[in-house]
Amino acid sequence: MADCIFCSIVDGDIPNHTVYEDDDVLAFLDVNPLARGHTLVIPKEHHERVNDLPADLAADVFATVHDLTDDVEAAVNAEATTIAVNNGPAAGQEVPHVHAHIVPRSEADGGKPVHALIDNPPEVDDDEFADVAAAIRDD
Ligand code: 5GP
Ligand code: ZN
Repeated sequence: MADCIFCSIVDGDIPNHTVYEDDDVLAFLDVNPLARGHTLVIPKEHHERVNDLPADLAADVFATVHDLTDDVEAAVNAEATTIAVNNGPAAGQEVPHVHAHIVPRSEADGGKPVHALIDNPPEVDDDEFADVAAAIRDD
């Protein structure tokens, strides 16, 4: 897609440090890493959000995340990784081409878990849990 940074990377118009590539998926180092080895995994085809991906391409992207996680941890001697997708602008997505972050982590990095993302989590009672679960199941 024109004006998409990640499409330009796929097309070879913006240099990157590629760590994995196949016909459908590209993985490369984040230019502004949160940790050494911070890697982005993208579908080569332009889609904005996870929800927009064809199921087989979503599976390919996640399979690549799965395959790379050990390699990323080993390369930078990380104890763990945070694997995350900012899925839509309201969730902090800045590049509108779906991408999974693999961020190497250590006990000493000062980072936080996913549960630190939200300042004001809701209080949910049993009825509401049931309603929300039913709405997600769509029954
Ligand atoms: P988002 O906030 O959309 O989830 O994350 C976008 C990520 O893309 C950021 O971590 C940012 O550093 C990275 N990024 C933005 N532009 C480029 C680029 O041109 N090259 C690379 N390698 N990473 C980029
Ligand atoms: Zn794109």
